[in-house]
Amino acid sequence: MAQKDDCLFCKIVAGKIPSTKVYEDDLVYAFNDLNPKAKVHVLIVPKNHYDNVVELEQKEPATLARIIEVAQKIASDKADGTFRLIFNTGRNAGQSVFHAHAHVLTGEVLPE
Ligand code: 5GP
Ligand code: ZN
Repeated sequence: MAQKDDCLFCKIVAGKIPSTKVYEDDLVYAFNDLNPKAKVHVLIVPKNHYDNVVELEQKEPATLARIIEVAQKIASDKADGTFRLIFNTGRNAGQSVFHAHAHVLTGEVLPE
């Protein structure tokens, strides 16, 4: 895995910081958000480090496609198959962890 020193999500992928695993395969790792904003709030991250989803799309597009497939699977397993997928990109957009990640929100009727 291409990991970055002092990256929170690299440490979670490596198991150095505990997380509640929801799904894992060769390309991605998914775990419950520590501070859920919906009944189901899962983060899906590439195992390799990229700062944001744009860099991920440029360097490892198959993994971005995988993230969308896994989001659908999680939403079907844990809820009714509908979901909101969010990639905060840049500090002013609300990104606080600079390892690309998708928020999957589902499990209830989401506010607009
Ligand atoms: P961002 O604000 O960068 O889009 O999303 C970062 C997310 O990571 C936030 O929703 C936050 O609750 C979550 N988060 C931050 N630290 C941890 C942690 O140590 N463990 C888990 N499971 N989630 C975290
Ligand atoms: Zn990282």
